[in-house]
This record gives sequence, structure tokens and C-alpha cells, in this order.
Amino acid sequence: MGFLDRLFGRPKFEREMWLYVRCSKCGTPMKVRVDMYNDLSLEEGGYILRKEMMDDHCFALMRAEIRFDNKRRVRSREIEGGELISKEEYEQLLAAQ
Ligand SMILES: [Zn+2]
Repeated sequence: MGFLDRLFGRPKFEREMWLYVRCSKCGTPMKVRVDMYNDLSLEEGGYILRKEMMDDHCFALMRAEIRFDNKRRVRSREIEGGELISKEEYEQLLAAQ
């Protein structure tokens, strides 16, 4: 536990989240950091995250739209131009490259 955690108590949700995606055009896996405080926008009933990503291989644009409830729990995920993968899949794809 860090100094700030002791001072303010532990946050109820993780401060950051990683998105693992794979480009649907060239198959390149990539990960993107999401700041759970600063990257989320308020919307009715919760929060929304809109993220644009680009891999460093074919430079195709991917757009993720993730909705959260008011406790910042994921409700739905959509991604254009790619697919969301798990951390394990990401590591396997990376190792296979
Ligand atoms: Zn690509």
C-alpha cells in the first residue's frame, strides 16, 4: 500500500485498465492504457469511453466504445476495425510474431 492509499483509502476501482485489441486488417495485437478517471466521460446511467487506436503495422484506425455503469464496471464493448482480445491472447500473438 502506497502513501496516498493510506492517506485516502484504497480506490473502489482500478485506476487504470488495459485494452487488448487486434487489428482486423493485419492482425497486429496491441495494448492501450485507459485512465479510469480521466479517459471516461459521463453519460446517462454511467460513463463512456471512446478511444481511437492505430497499430504500428498497417496504421488502420480502430475505434473502441466501451460503456460503464456508475460504478465504472464494464457494461458493453464495441470495437470498429478490430477485435478485443484477452491479455493471454495478446501475449500469445506477440510471442508468435
Ligand atoms: Zn493493422
